[in-house]
Amino acid sequence: MADRALGLIGLGHMGGPMAERLAAAGHRVVGFDASPAGREDAAARGIEVLSGAEEVGRAAQVVILMLPNSDIVESVAAQLVAIPAAERAVTVVVDMSSSEPERTRALAVRLAEAGIELVDAPVSGGVVGAVGGTLTIMVGGSVAQFDDLADVLGVLGSRVVRAGDVGAGHAVKALNNLMSAAHLMVSDEAAIAATRFGVDPEVFLAIVNTSSGRSGSTELKLPRYVLPGSFDSGFSAALLEKDVRIATALGRGLGLDMTLSDAVRARWEELNAELQPGADHTEIIRPLEQRAGVDVRDQASDSSSAASSGSVPVRPTEQ
Ligand code: NAD
Repeated sequence: MADRALGLIGLGHMGGPMAERLAAAGHRVVGFDASPAGREDAAARGIEVLSGAEEVGRAAQVVILMLPNSDIVESVAAQLVAIPAAERAVTVVVDMSSSEPERTRALAVRLAEAGIELVDAPVSGGVVGAVGGTLTIMVGGSVAQFDDLADVLGVLGSRVVRAGDVGAGHAVKALNNLMSAAHLMVSDEAAIAATRFGVDPEVFLAIVNTSSGRSGSTELKLPRYVLPGSFDSGFSAALLEKDVRIATALGRGLGLDMTLSDAVRARWEELNAELQPGADHTEIIRPLEQRAGVDVRDQASDSSSAASSGSVPVRPTEQ
């Protein structure tokens, strides 16, 4: 239904470009962010910025949340429910944040009591995917809800998949990021070991990326954010830590043995505690390099020799 107004609450690294894409596709988009910087950035993107979450709920039939965590999602949802029914436009809330699946299920029940549907639709693909509309979107909701949102989600993602009923998207997202954190840390450790042994890290990645050890970390994160030292993926180490905790708690809640996953969580927490607040998740290599006394960037050849030693394929497979 192209004539529905869309609201986007949480106009940060991801929500800002997502709102811009939806507006560019012809949707009427209104938005709100708690931070003045988020509001200014969104206004500069041509988004109509309103004065609060309630105002968004009064103006938009479909309200998308792109917020840091379940605590904030629940508090914003409570603001939407508090709008008197006669003044409320919102009928569907789409939580595209990476939230806690069990809390999402419980929130769906509370919202349904107020006459609002909840669908979870978290994403993978990072800021690059948000800007380009190439996100993978994992949807938790009924088939009818999934079909109803196709015109909206299709603007944001190139792979929109129904994971199951409400909460399923958030479960898959957390588990994906648990795996991603594990891949990143083991890739960092391996790149440091290769470097210490005397192998050029660019050559190491070029070989791994056509071999069985490859992952999103070796194909994208190390070549694009770590070796050049830009560390600007736009996804923070703190948000990834949140996801890893959600995933391990999910496994424990299901009565599963999460020994390796818990080790990933503990290691991530330990290393992240040594980073500056707000650090990019790709900076997790820094404390590892410090311990090893190795800086992989010092040892990396320039890009021209890397190209001649083999390709380092880049695919948009971020968080
Ligand atoms: P961000 O911190 O850049 O953006 C979150 C925004 O929410 C901020 O601008 C903040 O001011 C705003 N906010 C906080 N509380 C609010 C409130 N009560 N009302 C309105 N706005 C409020 O985070 P992000 O990187 O855009 O991530 C957003 C969500 O997407 C998170 O759940 C994250 O885990 C997930 N995610 C991020 C990435 C990524 O690469 N950055 C990728 C996939 C998923």
